[in-house]
Amino acid sequence: MRHGIINKPNDIQLENLKTLAKGMELVRTKLDSLPIIISSGFRCEALNDLLGSKRTSQHIMGLACDFTCDRYAHVGRVFEVIADSSIPFDQLILEYDSWIHISFPPEGAEPRRQVLVIDREGARVYNS
Ligand SMILES: [Zn+2]
Repeated sequence: MRHGIINKPNDIQLENLKTLAKGMELVRTKLDSLPIIISSGFRCEALNDLLGSKRTSQHIMGLACDFTCDRYAHVGRVFEVIADSSIPFDQLILEYDSWIHISFPPEGAEPRRQVLVIDREGARVYNS
């Protein structure tokens, strides 16, 4: 517990976290089962606010995490590999050429397979 915030998921968020975990297993397999470093996963609203993130963030829903996999390749290459895969992600975002944000649709929903890049110039759709 940091900043006096109890970052504990409710039942819906817990179900979503299971969906996220299943998705991340696909990512891990794609990356030759090398260690994935998750810098941010579930955030309750209070923690999300503290980080200055939007209230609509899929982190709050338990459906998103930020990660790198340095043992596999530089983050930009990892991003390309996941973008080109058939993994049913909802959003895949390369952020500041430093980490990858990935989210998965809640159980039963269709993955949007949105691929974006965010950097100092803003956000744009990524074309491989
Ligand atoms: Zn994120």
